[in-house]
Amino acid sequence: MIAAGDAVLVLNAGSSSIKFELFEARDGAPVARFGGQVEGIGAAPHFVAQDAAGRRLADRRWDGAAAPADHRAALGVIIEWLDGVLAGRRVAAVGHRVVHGGPDLAAPVLVDDTVMNALQALSPLAPLHQPHNLAGIAAATERFPGVPQVACFDTAFHRAHAWEADTFALPPEFYDRGIRRYGFHGLSYEYIARTLAAEEPALAAGRIVVAHLGNGASLCAIHGGRSVDSTMGFTALDGVPMGTRCGQIDPGVLLHLIGTEGMDVAAVQRLLYGNAGLKGMSGIGQDVRDLEASVDPRAAGALSHFAWRVRREVGALAAALGGIDALVFTAGIGENAAGLRARICEGLGFLGIVLDPALNAANAPEISGPGAATRVLVRPTDEEGMIARHVLALLQRSENA
Ligand code: ADP
Repeated sequence: MIAAGDAVLVLNAGSSSIKFELFEARDGAPVARFGGQVEGIGAAPHFVAQDAAGRRLADRRWDGAAAPADHRAALGVIIEWLDGVLAGRRVAAVGHRVVHGGPDLAAPVLVDDTVMNALQALSPLAPLHQPHNLAGIAAATERFPGVPQVACFDTAFHRAHAWEADTFALPPEFYDRGIRRYGFHGLSYEYIARTLAAEEPALAAGRIVVAHLGNGASLCAIHGGRSVDSTMGFTALDGVPMGTRCGQIDPGVLLHLIGTEGMDVAAVQRLLYGNAGLKGMSGIGQDVRDLEASVDPRAAGALSHFAWRVRREVGALAAALGGIDALVFTAGIGENAAGLRARICEGLGFLGIVLDPALNAANAPEISGPGAATRVLVRPTDEEGMIARHVLALLQRSENA
């Protein structure tokens, strides 16, 4: 039972960090109150927390053995800090971002032992993320006994894709074994689709391409609020180049690296996940601001390639939708990098995409030029807020059941 003022805690546990956001339930809707993270778990942990206005409320590092050594201990640090700001209010539920819900989980679920086992069985599909997400659930279950734990999946929003969109051109038994295109960033796309439906229902009923461009990057084709296709596939490596990930790559390159050049699988994995994309291409780093400020031609090359590939995918997804009514930019790069947005949209006039340079430079909510046939929007995403909404909705449904 959710009462006024109850809190919902949202956790996003990654390989070396736990991000959190605390929401208050007000009239059944989540209102963000505090957020932060412990990063550098296992190395040099650093805890920060801020309020909803961005005011820094905590900033802590540790010496030697006193440092939280694992996810469980890091969550302990977060909870100890939250105890102070909760001031007696109850944490009524904990929502978790979980990367993989597999072929079947198309909506958030209340976690019990059966669900936990099913999610563990999916770990081989996302070995770099899923085990950490599940460690977060295990730690929160231990710290909040009896409190509902809700898993929300990055794959869920894409589960209504047609088979044609999700299969690889392999014999059918591979698809049946789960080797298929799942798509990720679903919580971000769902948030954008829902926000747009509330703001502009007629537009949201149409054909929208959303470009979620952050450290991880993908694009999604949405029709009538439902995902039709996405650039990410079996893993979050596919699609457009990212901060440190390669994006789409000819699978023959991998055969060559392993078979001819003698790289082992671990080395290829390190290359594709950690030393490719903007960082690998530039030799400088993954942050677009650093690359824009650099005079190194490799930085300029990395940005040009990024814009080229994103533009190509906008065209491909417009084709998947049979047309395009709006292009929406979101996430760190999508919301802030006006220069890259302009370069992505260059040459997309044939799709009715024409930017207004001044509106684009100002990161305005709508950046398309006057009379452009296709609207181009800039919207902040809020994956944690989406999780909090799911948690409240699920608790409401189980109360009514
Ligand atoms: P994550 O995928 O880790 O959530 P974000 O969505 O926060 O990432 O995006 C982070 C990226 O956004 C940064 O690495 C940087 O490249 C880009 N970014 C943020 N602010 C700006 C800005 N003002 N101009 C250009 N790029 C920016």
